[in-house]
Amino acid sequence: MTGSTPTSFTADDYRSRMERAARAAADAGLAGLLVAPGPDMVWLTGYAPTAITERLTVLVLTPDRPPVLVVPTLEAPDAAKAPGAGSLTLRDWTDGKDPYAATAALLDATGRFGISDNAWAMHLLGLQQTLPGTSYASLTDALPMLRAVKDTVELNLLAAAGEAADATYEEILKVPFAGRRESDVAGDLADLLRRFGHSQVDFTIVASGPNGANPHHEVGDRVIQRGDMVVLDFGGLKDGYGSDTSRTVHVGEPTDEERRVHDIVREAQEAGFRAVRPGVACQDVDRAARAVVNDAGYGEYFIHRTGHGIGVTTHEPPYMIEGEEQPLVPGMCFSVEPGIYLPGRFGVRIEDIVTVTEDGGRRLNDTRREMAVVD
Ligand code: ZN
Ligand code: ZN
Ligand code: ZN
Repeated sequence: MTGSTPTSFTADDYRSRMERAARAAADAGLAGLLVAPGPDMVWLTGYAPTAITERLTVLVLTPDRPPVLVVPTLEAPDAAKAPGAGSLTLRDWTDGKDPYAATAALLDATGRFGISDNAWAMHLLGLQQTLPGTSYASLTDALPMLRAVKDTVELNLLAAAGEAADATYEEILKVPFAGRRESDVAGDLADLLRRFGHSQVDFTIVASGPNGANPHHEVGDRVIQRGDMVVLDFGGLKDGYGSDTSRTVHVGEPTDEERRVHDIVREAQEAGFRAVRPGVACQDVDRAARAVVNDAGYGEYFIHRTGHGIGVTTHEPPYMIEGEEQPLVPGMCFSVEPGIYLPGRFGVRIEDIVTVTEDGGRRLNDTRREMAVVD
């Protein structure tokens, strides 16, 4: 999942990101970073290979040397066109040569390196075999906040992705639900996301009736009935940045209990949002939302964390979860998405992307959170 390359950033933006990453690695006691194609590489260089193949491509960031992109010779012309290419040296390797030896020549033979979570195991094993004195840490474990604080351009792109998701929600309220399959409504969601500018659709959850009680239910052949609650959760990438929003609608008039459960989730979402401000720990956002659900007696049915970061991917640190003491910093962007899931019956989830401002939080999704009644 490399996504498209955002065109909104300058060569200077990429250079400063690479410098920042190398510094952060040194501060974390690492000898450097090994960045695989994927979100980290897109963010650092703007380079997204058209196809990710078994041939090794790796960005090597070390504190004391300029960045080097090790790349297969046949990919080198494309890599040279990446927006961040001006700030790095390309080192290409030809089929038949050993790419691990070429990479090892750039590394401290006894160092500990951060490596992208999505790097291929065969490449990590190849490097370890070539440099047995090295050791490796997950880049996300070592530098969880590397991409967490967004700059103004990134925030504008995330806001635009959020607006597109909101426009999608407004339109989906107009389509018929009763008598159609979940997969049909999901297809409508995907079409709408693309119509409003998404280049990549990551998920279109339509979880009707009892399926809504499974937060992982994506979409199936179930025919939506009158009387169903329907959890909608959809998002993807627009201009390289993510959207992710949930609303729960009802087909026809809801019962009092359905309204009550929906109100509790809405209040929990509001409480989570109101907890957002600089210096507050991530876990306090989770606690604020969870307290509302607990106090209403539904605590055991809120079975996931309250939120996750978003940026060049739709799920990344920081996580709004018990135990995460990372303080919020202006520019961070993440979801606030409490839910209640009643097994065999129905589920409710309400989700907005929120960004931290100097004095609080700002929602990047802002459609009505009251329960919508659809046909
Ligand atoms: Zn109902
Ligand atoms: Zn979602
Ligand atoms: Zn989410």
